Amino acid sequence: MFMSRRRFLTAAAAGSALVVLGTQQATSPPRRARWFLFGTLVDVELIEPAGHDATPVLALLAERLQRLHVDWHAWKPGRLGDLNRALVGGLSYVAEPSLLALVRDAQSLSQRCGGLFNPAIGGLIGLWGFHRDEMLAGSIPSRDAIERLLEADVTPDALTFNGDTVRSQNPAVQLDLGAYAKGYALDLAQTLLHDHGFADAVVNAGGDLVASGRGPGRPWHIGIRHPSGRGTLALIETAGREAVVTSGNYERYRVLDGRRYAHILDPRTGWPAEAVASATVVCADAALADAASTAISVAGEQWPDVAVAFGIDQAMVVTADGRVQFTRAMYERVDPVNLRARAVSVIA
Ligand code: AMP
Ligand code: MG
Repeated sequence: MFMSRRRFLTAAAAGSALVVLGTQQATSPPRRARWFLFGTLVDVELIEPAGHDATPVLALLAERLQRLHVDWHAWKPGRLGDLNRALVGGLSYVAEPSLLALVRDAQSLSQRCGGLFNPAIGGLIGLWGFHRDEMLAGSIPSRDAIERLLEADVTPDALTFNGDTVRSQNPAVQLDLGAYAKGYALDLAQTLLHDHGFADAVVNAGGDLVASGRGPGRPWHIGIRHPSGRGTLALIETAGREAVVTSGNYERYRVLDGRRYAHILDPRTGWPAEAVASATVVCADAALADAASTAISVAGEQWPDVAVAFGIDQAMVVTADGRVQFTRAMYERVDPVNLRARAVSVIA
């Protein structure tokens, strides 16, 4: 099924959880573009059908993604910032259609997993110092401040929608769509490329990726990196349109009082979730995969229940102590590059 593993591994680039691996023997080389957006490198690889130049659609895509990056930013000025200010003041906010859709969908996904994915905990994420570009060393927030935010009981259920307006019954709700917006943007990106006649493409934003169609002369091959950065754990050959999304506690973290604390928070405790090092989800929809991989990271040993709640049958988890756990459907499709010596189990 796969070409020489050695070849793929040498082609694997460092720097993101998921990588599109070597494309040799191409009929014609894929067209590539790269931008820095959503706090990460966004790489596009696509096949240009004969006589079909991707330059205009790539320019359009760059412009759209840049717009979404600004609109949905959790702490820089933009539409989400405007919405958050209105929510604190108990005011109604007229949301532009794509932001409205994003917030509505985030609310229902949060409900599906009992709030482990909770896009309303922006206050808590800011308190832990993750609303910055640089991850500065510092001190753990005060337990009182964490408790106060927990007692405010923030969930997106407090949001009410009326036509295109949103308001919150709870002034402590502050939206942070960082666990979800990138996946949503990737779905929009793939749809845009498809609608412009580019059916064979991969859009890869750090740990989040959507592939469609085939690579040059063969399917796209995706490598899932080990959360410690030690090489590729497994390979996936995608078929049709598929999202492969990874949440990892190695992606953003701060050293606080001499210890590492990662950016995925457990809304039940107000503290960083620590049981899962990385969670990878494969399904057709990148937004769903993004919310689900974050919720799975929070769930710890109970993660199979979360996968079921989201209707996800393909997931892989690396626990903080190095065990690798699969759903059966995921185990059956991956090529286990670097799993033999590890504690591997199929648990769901
Ligand atoms: P991801 O890499 O998709 O798991 O997203 C992580 C980002 O989502 C963090 O950097 C925070 O901005 C935000 N976040 C952290 N914890 C949660 C949570 N439990 N629910 C929703 N968003 C979260
Ligand atoms: Mg996510």
